[in-house]
Amino acid sequence: MVVSNRGVPSYRCINTQGEGGGTMTSHGHDHDGDHSHLTETEARVRALESLLSAKGYIDSAAVDRIIQTYETKIGPRNGAHVVAKSWVEPEFEAWLRRDSSAAIHSLGYHSRQGEHIEAVFNSDEVHHLVVCTLCSCYPWSVLGLPPTWYKSPPFRSRAVIDPRGVLAEFGVTLDPATRVEVHDSTAEIRYLVIPQRPAGTEGYSLEQLADLVTRNAMIGTGLARAPQVAS
Ligand code: FE
Repeated sequence: MVVSNRGVPSYRCINTQGEGGGTMTSHGHDHDGDHSHLTETEARVRALESLLSAKGYIDSAAVDRIIQTYETKIGPRNGAHVVAKSWVEPEFEAWLRRDSSAAIHSLGYHSRQGEHIEAVFNSDEVHHLVVCTLCSCYPWSVLGLPPTWYKSPPFRSRAVIDPRGVLAEFGVTLDPATRVEVHDSTAEIRYLVIPQRPAGTEGYSLEQLADLVTRNAMIGTGLARAPQVAS
C-alpha cells in the first residue's frame, strides 16, 4: 500500500547518523525526576500507567519485565534471521511472499498483539520504506523496540512527504529509476523490509548473512551491509 501524507505537520530533521544514531528528533528526554521536560505523550503514558497501577489493573513489575524482554531478548536479530533465510531458501522466500505472518511465526517469532506482518521485498525496481505516520507501530516480534527517530514527528511526516530526502539523510542514495514505496504501519499491519542480498555473498552461511542485515535495512532507511564492511 502506497500512502499519502495524513497531514502531519512537517518538521525539519536536524540530525541523522545512520544506523546507530539516527536521532531524527528535535528533542531528547532523559530527565528523570524533572517531568517538566516530558513530551505530552510521555506525560500521558506515565499518568495512565500510574492510574492503571493504582487501580490494580496492571502490575508495574510485569510491565517492566515485558519492556526488558523486548530490550534484551527480542531484537533485530530475529528479523535478520528471517531475511537471511529468505535469501538462501527459495521455498521460504516464496512462503514469506505468500503469507508473511505464517512464515515468520514458523520461526517462533510471535507478536503479542496478533497483528499481521507483511514482508516487502526490495529490488532494483522498488525500494520500500516503513513508517507509522500516526504513532509508532512497529514489528516488535522481529525488530524489537523501535528506535527513537522512528517515533519522532520529523521522521513520521517527512518519510511520506520527501522519502528520498529522508533516505539521503540516512546515507541511502538510490538509482533515480528505483521507485520508492512508503508503507504506513497500523495497529493491524506491520511491515518488514527484505533488503536485497549484497553481491559477493555466495556461499555465506545463514549466520554470516544475518550479520549483514541491519535494523535500518529492515525498516528501509538502510541497505544490507556489503560483506567487507561487516568483517
Ligand atoms: Fe503507530
